[in-house]
Amino acid sequence: MKKIAVIGAGITGITTAYQLMKKGYDVTVFDKQKYAAMETSYANGGQLSACNGEVWTNWKTIYQGIQWIFKKDAPLSINLKPSLHKIGWFLNFLSNVKNHEKNTIATVKMAIESGNLLKELLKDENINFDFKERGILHLCNTEENFNHGLKVNKWLTKAGLKREPLNNEEIQKIEPTINLNDFFGGFFTKSDMSGDIHLFCTQLAEICKKNNVKFNYNTSINDIVYKHNLVELKFSTQNTNNTDTFDATVICAGVSSKFIASKLGDNINIYPVKGYSITVDLNDKISQKHAPEVSLLDDGAKIVSSRLGINRFRIAGTAEFNGYNKDIREDRILPLIKWSNKLFPKVSTEHYRPWAGLRPMTPNMMPKIGKGKLPGIFYNTGHGHLGWTLSAFSSLLISDILLRTDNLN
Ligand SMILES: Cc1cc2nc3c(=O)[nH]c(=O)nc-3n(C[C@H](O)[C@H](O)[C@H](O)COP(=O)(O)OP(=O)(O)OC[C@H]3O[C@@H](n4cnc5c(N)ncnc54)[C@H](O)[C@@H]3O)c2cc1C
Repeated sequence: MKKIAVIGAGITGITTAYQLMKKGYDVTVFDKQKYAAMETSYANGGQLSACNGEVWTNWKTIYQGIQWIFKKDAPLSINLKPSLHKIGWFLNFLSNVKNHEKNTIATVKMAIESGNLLKELLKDENINFDFKERGILHLCNTEENFNHGLKVNKWLTKAGLKREPLNNEEIQKIEPTINLNDFFGGFFTKSDMSGDIHLFCTQLAEICKKNNVKFNYNTSINDIVYKHNLVELKFSTQNTNNTDTFDATVICAGVSSKFIASKLGDNINIYPVKGYSITVDLNDKISQKHAPEVSLLDDGAKIVSSRLGINRFRIAGTAEFNGYNKDIREDRILPLIKWSNKLFPKVSTEHYRPWAGLRPMTPNMMPKIGKGKLPGIFYNTGHGHLGWTLSAFSSLLISDILLRTDNLN
């Protein structure tokens, strides 16, 4: 049985370990954190959303972004201090505008497949993660955004997704709790889903452990070299340095994948795009009754929300280009609270937990799923704003690629 290392115990690493374990490999997962899913896979928007597969590389988003740069509570914030990484990333982002339609269709296809694979996985494994198959409602604040949605719908249809246009009355029938005063209709994707990524990851990690996958937490990978047909990992666990060798390594290290890749001669251009969430505790019956059951995407505010069980309401948003810091800024959290108060005035926002995470974003917004330059090096990373949505698909794909390569050797 071949020995495979997986670097990272976020959603991409845990699902990759699961698929490799299923194929009979001897799998070891490394993570610098003490537990699974403590970084970007901790408290995201919860959406399993093929309907949100439109990539951001288009002129509409860019013009909007420029207007937002100097507005304090806007959904986008950019630290204007230049860095080579940021400038190079943005130039590459601009060069991908021409691929907007193609990459949107490809992303939506992957997301649809991923949703089906996740449901297959859930037939085999008992995982309780506040999973909801209630669809996703997309709310448009202007006629212009609604018309843009109609254009994107044509691409979604090409990809095989049905997203139905709705007026406000129809939206209200699907989700009666929303205060729709400021909206101009929207869209509904019945096949989309939602659930708690952290609960899912921790339970899938336990399932892997029971099936002999080894987990080295509190362990940082410091170096990685390829020699004598093996991948050698140098790592430290609480000040003790160690080395181990593997037949292959899959890099699933989120925003750190770029640095690991550069040691191996691979250019994985990932920028950390910070986002924030609040988890509102629905402690009283009135809040529980008046919080939405259906997962939402507010196009104008760039905010998504998911109901997690009876007593949690997750609201997430914001794209902040500000390097690797994960500081929780009060002025970025406030728009999320205001959004809830406006759309769901009867929901108490007295008790909430704020969080910030870094989306591992590539400039073309497509994940890197495949081989590196050196033999034995594989990547499943760079899933940006859709890592939860795409994880079931990308983990199966990378395990298939690894198996195929293994059979050829
Ligand atoms: C605010 C917000 C809302 C979002 N909402 C959604 C949503 O609704 N739906 C959706 O599909 N996606 C959403 N996303 C995106 C999604 O959460 C991410 O794409 C996904 O969590 C990334 O997973 P990952 O495994 O690649 O990275 P991570 O979860 O960050 O995992 C990487 C792991 O690698 C470890 N690591 C890194 N370097 C090393 C090293 N040298 N040694 C050892 N370990 C290392 C880290 O400790 C970490 O645990 C959202 C993101 C944000 C920020």
